[in-house]
Amino acid sequence: MSFQNPVFIPGPTNMPEAIRQACYMPTIDHRSPTFGKILHPCLDGVRQVLKSETAHIFIFPSTGTGGWETTLTNTLSKGDKVLAARNGMFSHRWIDMCQRHGLDVQVVETPWGHGIPADKYAEILKGDTSHKIKAVLATHNETATGVKSDIAAVRAALDATNHPALLFVDGVSSIASMDFRFDEWGVDVAVTGSQKGFMLPAGLAIVGFSDKAVEASKTADLPRTFFDIKDMQKGYDANAFPYTPPVGLMNGLKLSLEMLLDEGLDNVIARHTRIATGVRHAISAWGLELCAVSPDVYSDTVSAIRTPEGFNATDIVTHAAEVYGVAFGVGLGEVAGKVFRIGHLGSLTDVMMLSGLATAEMCMVDLGMDIKLGSGVAAAQEFYRTNPAAALKNAA
Ligand SMILES: *Cc1c(COP(=O)(O)O)cnc(C)c1O
Repeated sequence: MSFQNPVFIPGPTNMPEAIRQACYMPTIDHRSPTFGKILHPCLDGVRQVLKSETAHIFIFPSTGTGGWETTLTNTLSKGDKVLAARNGMFSHRWIDMCQRHGLDVQVVETPWGHGIPADKYAEILKGDTSHKIKAVLATHNETATGVKSDIAAVRAALDATNHPALLFVDGVSSIASMDFRFDEWGVDVAVTGSQKGFMLPAGLAIVGFSDKAVEASKTADLPRTFFDIKDMQKGYDANAFPYTPPVGLMNGLKLSLEMLLDEGLDNVIARHTRIATGVRHAISAWGLELCAVSPDVYSDTVSAIRTPEGFNATDIVTHAAEVYGVAFGVGLGEVAGKVFRIGHLGSLTDVMMLSGLATAEMCMVDLGMDIKLGSGVAAAQEFYRTNPAAALKNAA
């Protein structure tokens, strides 16, 4: 691997130099107003990125997976029933976590490449007249398959029968890159981490709780200590954590939020859509197909690309690393060996993306695939050239 090359994995993402430097800071007293000057802008900034006025934001030293655990343990009790769709490796892991916590999961098995079947959710919720289902899980962007789901439709499924279940959304690979609307979609808990859209190293679980989810935490009896939001809130009220906070990472998050909000959330989202569209033009020019089955579910942060029958897609990833020093993502779980993934989120420009597409092309030609050098790059160039970036603030 060459450290000079950008990575094209769907997290951790490339770090702007300014953010790296912000993470690298001297020791401060982490129970002091000085820390408060880092903490509170982080909480306010995350709330804005979630498009919420009222969400209670909690930041734990952890990763997205710890955010899942924070969500479940603070809101649910042993044996509670939850509803979830399995359409990829990340939704699968969250379901597995629910089961390990003694929750009763009703799993809607969904073909990989498809989004959450909101109509099935609606049917199940309608049948649940005694309101046994306490929470509905939704993976907004399934990073394993490059599939986004319609969270507004999941909310509508709940509202159709006035079902009181909480709505938990995994936005680890969508928040701060794709359109996310905490308040408008009636999300009760949103989960993300530091190393994807926020362009930081891994190390923070970032969650937003609605008032209703905070209320649920008062009776939820799943065991929790490290991830207890009540302890965390008490810490925040004193400009502190219940334990030692990762101050440098949070200083990085403060800058990341300033950069995202300065670029403008709508511009950030539009930039991801543009870059992703260029990637999809390249994939079509190669004659290849996405794992995602239709345009309405195409992810703007990661593309999982199917390779021809009999070809091991993982070879592309291995070859890119060994020969060109470039990182792509392998297929996970059911689609291991069948897809390779190009991550296109975080700190990225057209020019960086073109270099990734050019590398993928070289690898596929090296490995004997029937692809013409330059074909995908030319298709992306044509798209980028005729749809120039509105703002170049991301160049930092
Ligand atoms: C990356 C990711 C996770 C896991 O996050 P970690 O930070 O690796 O624990 C969960 N869900 C989705 C959708 C992801 O992309």
